[in-house]
This record gives sequence, structure tokens and C-alpha cells, in this order.
Amino acid sequence: MITKFIKRILRRDPMVKHTQANNTGAPKRIPKKAHRIDPHLLSKNAVKVTHTLQQAGYEAFIVGGAVRDLALGISPKDFDVATNATPDQVQRLFRKARLIGRRFQIVHVTFFGKGHPEIIEVSTFRALLDNAGDHVAESGRILRDNVWGSQGEDAARRDFTINAMYYDPSSETVLDYHGGMADMQKKTLRMIGDPAKRYREDPVRMLRAVRFAAKTGFELDSATRTPIAKLGKLLNDVPSARLFDEILKLLMSGYSWAAIQGLKDAGLHHGLLPLLDHILDKGEDSKGANDFVKLALANTDDRIQSGKSVSAGFLFATLLWPDLLKNWKANSAKGMANIPALHDAMDDTIATQSSGMTIQRRFESDMREIWSMQPRFERRVGRYPYRLIESPRFRAGYDFMLLRCATGELNAAIGQWWTDFIAADPTGQDELMASVKNESGNSPSPAKRRRRRKPKSAVPPESAAS
Ligand code: ATP
Ligand code: MG
Repeated sequence: MITKFIKRILRRDPMVKHTQANNTGAPKRIPKKAHRIDPHLLSKNAVKVTHTLQQAGYEAFIVGGAVRDLALGISPKDFDVATNATPDQVQRLFRKARLIGRRFQIVHVTFFGKGHPEIIEVSTFRALLDNAGDHVAESGRILRDNVWGSQGEDAARRDFTINAMYYDPSSETVLDYHGGMADMQKKTLRMIGDPAKRYREDPVRMLRAVRFAAKTGFELDSATRTPIAKLGKLLNDVPSARLFDEILKLLMSGYSWAAIQGLKDAGLHHGLLPLLDHILDKGEDSKGANDFVKLALANTDDRIQSGKSVSAGFLFATLLWPDLLKNWKANSAKGMANIPALHDAMDDTIATQSSGMTIQRRFESDMREIWSMQPRFERRVGRYPYRLIESPRFRAGYDFMLLRCATGELNAAIGQWWTDFIAADPTGQDELMASVKNESGNSPSPAKRRRRRKPKSAVPPESAAS
């Protein structure tokens, strides 16, 4: 115990193990008047973290996507800090600090304020890896990745020049090792180093290229773009959980429609998610389905850009809805009853996706809940609406139903009725229930409806099912 303690104390100096000579060159120092980063866009907590580390004698910077977004004048969604302190050293400086990860440890420093807690991710400068040795698979893909390095090395192992800038809030200076600021001005996305080699190391970088191009509106530099056509197939080797995370980031980027078009242009969508093949490869015959997906994505982008939350389950439920409708309709045509036909279609729709990339369980159950709620919006009789409104995922189901109304798949009057029903007091709700009866003349009681062999709502709506 004591020896461990003494060892820890002796390790107070930054533990810097280099795997190769630091030949990464000196950074360009960009003063405030040149980078024009507005300090108001900074997270106070991120600044606290860099100050605390600096006061303890370490180097510390805001880094990566946050600096890119700050330089673009966008408020970053999260802040990463890079330092020459080791994870242990970082952890000792903060009360709420947790070591994360085994392969490469980072520290999550958590701050509890008014809204959600904010996590600042602090990582120690990482070393460049040599090409030989056991770090790299035959294809060039990096397998292990756990050696600390200098700031220059840390910069060189990042992906794009605009993602490799370091901002010191104390001096308001940006350190730029790879011409990131010049590329920002040229609106260019450029891979650091030899692009083909970097894609081989980590094929996910190809997806990141598409995502950042969509987000920033920048052009991919031609040397960065060209190898993608040939190397896209390397994405097949990437573990499906990682691929799923990256696709999720792409869909939740606030620029999902542009990003999906970018995937198509780069020829990267095949095999990623069968649903992407589906959306992108179809022609005019699937206009209804495409409209629905497009509207759903535009809606998601709007929500994200205005800082609202989006559930991944909801998003996947929308992307797969056209498929589900088709399967549902086919089952109904075979004579299956409405609800079993829907549930069977849900199983089929999800099973088809799993051959490409597993949609995680927690999203799957959200999707099923949202979908199975849909026929219930058409049952405006008896106690059904009162019960439906109380289900825990009602809001998601309702939002989903409104999308169906917006594309004309479902009668817009039904959407309006529910909007009124939610807002009404109990008397108003009873009146609305009565209005449905009047609307349909003689609305069947739930019991009668169940006895009917083919109730009207048993057939999924026609328009978007193609
Ligand atoms: P976002 O705004 O989407 O979070 P980001 O640039 O912060 O964008 P992250 O995935 O959060 O992206 O990664 C943080 C930083 O880590 C990146 O800016 C980049 O410098 C580096 N990085 C992340 N993934 C990779 C990768 N696959 N290869 C090289 N560097 C990477
Ligand atoms: Mg980030």
C-alpha cells in the first residue's frame, strides 16, 4: 500500500513515453485577433478544468471538435480537454473525476449545475504509433493504442486538420500544428498525413469525413476524397457496434439529410444499414416512402439544431416505417388480423436490419412501442384515447403520428383531433369524443369493432406503403 503510494508520488511528473522521435514540428500560435473565438461560447466548466490543471503545473487545452466549432462561431455540444498530466494525476485534482476505459484511459470530470450535469472529457496527449509492431493489423487498422506522447504527436494522430487545434482559454491562443485555421478559411476538410494510410488505420474516418463535410458545409480536399472510393469496403471489417455508433452520430448531427446524401455520393452507404440502401437506391416509385423519411430527418435536424432532444429509437422507427408499412400491408393482404399483422411485420423489419448492423436492444424496444401505438391513434372510441394518452411513451408515439399526417399517410384531421384532445380539459375531451361519434355517424363500440372480421383501420394506410 505504502510503496504504491510512494510510487504514485514519484510519478508526479508527466509520464511521457515516446514510441518514436517527436518530429511533428512546432505549432503555429494564433492570437485572438486572428481566430476570433468568442469566449462567451466557452463552457465555464471546461475553462475550470484547464485552469485547475494549469495551476497544478500541467499543460491543458480545449481540443478537437470544440475548437473547430468555436472557430466556426458555433456553440460546441461538448468539450474535450487534452493535457500532459496522466489520468491518475488528473483524477487527483478533481472531486468528481472518474477513470474511463481500459485500453486508453481518460478521465470524466463531472459538474452538477442547473440543467443536466456536464461531463468534461480529459485525455492525456497520445503518442503516434509506429507502423510495425503489434499495434497495427495486417490491413493497417490500429488495434492497440495506449501510449502517452507529446502534444505534437497527439495532434498528428487526430483525423482532420480542423479537428487538431488546441485552444488555451487563459492566453486565448490557438495552437495549430497542421494548418487547421487556414483550412477553416478555405472551407476545406483535409486529412492529416497520408489519407489512404489514415483510412486503413481506421476506416471509420471515411464516415467521419462525410459527417463533418455535411456539418460544416466544407469541401473534402481532393487527396482526402479520392481514396474513399477504393477503400470504402474496409468498413466491412469494422466491428458493428462501432459502426452503429458512428451512424448514430451521423444521423444525430443536425445535418442528417445532407450527410446521407454525402454517403451516397461517396458510395459508402452499401451494407452500412440496409435501410440506407433502401432510402438511397430507390427511384421515383418509392416517392411516398422517401418523403416520409426525408420529412422525419428534416424534423430531427431541426430539433437538434434548436437544441431539443431526439431519441434514437424514434429516429430509427421513422427510418424503418416505410418498410414496416409494406410488410404490414402484405400480411394484411394474406388475411392476417390487423394487430398480429403489425407485430409480425415489426419482427420482419427488425430482422432484415440485423443482417447489416445490429440495432441495439434499447432502441429496438422504443421502436416497437412507437410502432405498436400507431393503430391505437385511430381507435377514438370508449376509453381507448384516455388510456393511450397515459402510456409512458405517448409523446413519442404522438409525434410519430403527426409525421404520418404531415406526409398525408394518415388523415390530418386525426392528428388535429389528438392535438386538441391533449390540450383539452376533461369536459373538452368528452366533447371531442362525442364529435368523433358524430363525425363517423354511428361509431362502432369497441366490442362490436373487435367482432368485425375486417375493420376499416385493419388495412394499413395506402399512400406510403409502396
Ligand atoms: P462532434 O462535434 O461530432 O463531437 P468531434 O470532432 O468532437 O465532433 P469526436 O468523435 O467527439 O468528434 O472526437 C473528438 C476528437 O478526437 C476529434 O475532433 C478528433 O480530433 C479526434 N478523433 C476522434 N475520432 C477520431 C478518429 N477516428 N481518428 C482520429 N482522430 C479522431
Ligand atoms: Mg466531440
